[in-house]
Amino acid sequence: MSQSKHIVCPQCGAVNRIPENRLADNPKCGKCHQPLFTGHAIELDAAGFNKHISRNDIPVVVDFWASWCGPCKMMAPAFQQAAAQLEPRYRLAKLNTEDEQAIAMQYRIQSIPTLAIFRNGREIARQPGAMSTGDIVRWVQSNA
Ligand SMILES: [Zn+2]
Repeated sequence: MSQSKHIVCPQCGAVNRIPENRLADNPKCGKCHQPLFTGHAIELDAAGFNKHISRNDIPVVVDFWASWCGPCKMMAPAFQQAAAQLEPRYRLAKLNTEDEQAIAMQYRIQSIPTLAIFRNGREIARQPGAMSTGDIVRWVQSNA
């Protein structure tokens, strides 16, 4: 019997139950019928952040960034390429710390970019500083 995973839809926020062995078959949201995974990191606001880190059964890797941060912009393409490699075992997401300062303060984000991995609502790893695609993939796979 295959295990099911709860996957939060990046489009509408619905929580889908997907059999684990179907995760790689381009599953679609049962509510809005959009693909649950597109190979791209998703943008989160505060409400989306809380929902995705707490309701997904897959680890959520969050890139805390800001538009004025040069290293953040340099790392952005690497993070997108990492998303293409790590989905659907992981959800990759970006949180703009200028728009969502309360979240950045709550999680004591001291410097950006900072990557953090969340599982079942809890932070399980954190890494400040820009990384290459290969470094991101290795770091995520060795921590979650
Ligand atoms: Zn949906």
